[in-house]
Amino acid sequence: MKSLPPASPVDLLVVGGGPIGIACALAARNAGLSARIVEKGAIVNSMVGYPSQMEFFSTPELLEIGGHPLATRRYKPLREEAIDYYRGVAQRENLDIRLGERVLAVTGNAGAFSVETTRGVHEARAVVLAIGFFDQPNKLDVPGGDKTHHLIAFAALTFPSAALYRRALIWVLPAALIYGIAIELIQPYVGRHGERVDFYADAIGALIGVALGVLLNVILIQPLAKKHQRPRA
Ligand SMILES: Cc1cc2nc3c(=O)[nH]c(=O)nc-3n(C[C@H](O)[C@H](O)[C@H](O)COP(=O)(O)OP(=O)(O)OC[C@H]3O[C@@H](n4cnc5c(N)ncnc54)[C@H](O)[C@@H]3O)c2cc1C
Repeated sequence: MKSLPPASPVDLLVVGGGPIGIACALAARNAGLSARIVEKGAIVNSMVGYPSQMEFFSTPELLEIGGHPLATRRYKPLREEAIDYYRGVAQRENLDIRLGERVLAVTGNAGAFSVETTRGVHEARAVVLAIGFFDQPNKLDVPGGDKTHHLIAFAALTFPSAALYRRALIWVLPAALIYGIAIELIQPYVGRHGERVDFYADAIGALIGVALGVLLNVILIQPLAKKHQRPRA
């Protein structure tokens, strides 16, 4: 992609390299103006954070920009297809895009703006803020976090047999560990990330499930069972 020195002024500076920012820069250039995009992350940074394999509501022609066709395998595009599409358009059009540069302040007036970024200052006659709002997700405030969920889920797998049928642990525990490994190995093939730390959380959870189950068995289930045992004749 073309990269002008930071000091060279442009007609239009676009803040944000999402679909709208790219479309604005293209429209400006097609009108004979010089344009530059300043993006704090990657091209279409918001979409990078969307769920893997997410299907758009819109059909392709509603997402197209600059007259470039968006080819899709299905009726509606997936996140991955859209990311490839917008990045492909930016590349084919040889747009001037500055990535990994966050805009901090815009000062000045029409005809003479100064755009301060984490990497310097850009001068522009006009500025478009195409900063969207989808790159700031409202994360579900679930207490505990991901690793705790792994731990609890795997404790729940081994707890019942540890508490009620300890002999089954000889296959339940290895099966739980193999299951944990398999999950992490399969994930990269379905657009997710396998994490060794997730497996460690699974293993610790499985052992905690065993410990709690055995404890329950010894201090409650066995004494209760003995109490209710009929005396032998
Ligand atoms: C689950 C989901 C499904 C959707 N489905 C559809 C659909 O079917 N059809 C549809 O039309 N729309 C859909 N949308 C919405 C669509 O993705 C947005 O409308 C589109 O991304 C908006 O583009 P944008 O360029 O305005 O903003 P964004 O894509 O959010 O881009 C803004 C960019 O600005 C950058 N930025 C922000 N602040 C700064 C800064 N200070 N300095 C530098 N860069 C900065 C960000 O990193 C980002 O790359 C969907 C959204 C979600 C979350």
